[in-house]
Amino acid sequence: MTGLLSLILNANNLFDYGVCAFSRISDKLIDCPERDRIPAGAESVICIVFPTNATMVADDPDAVFRLRRVASQMLELTCTALRKAFSEYQFEWFLDDSPIPDVTAASFCGLGAIGDSGLLLTPHYGSFCFTGNIVTDLLLPETGDEATYCVHCRRCIESCPAGALSEQGGFDKEKCVRYAASAAPDTTAFLLRQGAAVKGCNTCREVCPCNSAIGSADQHPFIKAATHPDSIFTSDGGYKPMGGLGQNKFRKLPGDS
Ligand code: SF4
Ligand code: SF4
Repeated sequence: MTGLLSLILNANNLFDYGVCAFSRISDKLIDCPERDRIPAGAESVICIVFPTNATMVADDPDAVFRLRRVASQMLELTCTALRKAFSEYQFEWFLDDSPIPDVTAASFCGLGAIGDSGLLLTPHYGSFCFTGNIVTDLLLPETGDEATYCVHCRRCIESCPAGALSEQGGFDKEKCVRYAASAAPDTTAFLLRQGAAVKGCNTCREVCPCNSAIGSADQHPFIKAATHPDSIFTSDGGYKPMGGLGQNKFRKLPGDS
């Protein structure tokens, strides 16, 4: 990774990241409206890990929604800086409603293993994290090699109340979302319909052995920025609409008539 690129990412509190060639995932793109934003001639995918194993999430599980807004704002600011620094190239970020198979891409970047839970299993934060991506037509050196996989212990598969998981990464998002919506309080279900991130029941995280000895992210720059009382990211309550999020769209859930 180029020095200037790292400097810009670090300046925006992004420290856990890697790069893979766009060609690694170009045949696995997810069909969604945001796919049109992928730069023509895309060469590289920068994957960023955002940890969530923090006290603020333990105290309030819905804080994950706020963290995703904070991450979105960080990605927006980072792309603005990258476009200025590398003016001949395009940079587009993706988080929610993303066409990028983020877990697979992150594993190609060397950031963790692909779990049968459909989650990325990182060395430091297990699956208590989410990822964002920046796609660019700037050719960057890769930081990983081949994708890696979990130990297939089946605990998540056998514990999933929605029957949404199967071996070799078989994750049925619709079953998971339907279960989350049916089990959620009205307020959370409302947020889901506004295009907010989907927060599942978390059973697949709780039973995973990869999460048995993970570290707290309380001191991670991302969490500190999100919880700092003067942070520009939290002053609006964490729900400032940002371009590319699809937040203003009414999104039907599976099973809605
Ligand atoms: S969040 Fe719950 S319903 Fe969704 S895959 Fe995990 S265990 Fe299954
Ligand atoms: S619980 Fe077992 S099978 Fe599921 S992701 Fe974790 S290691 Fe893989």
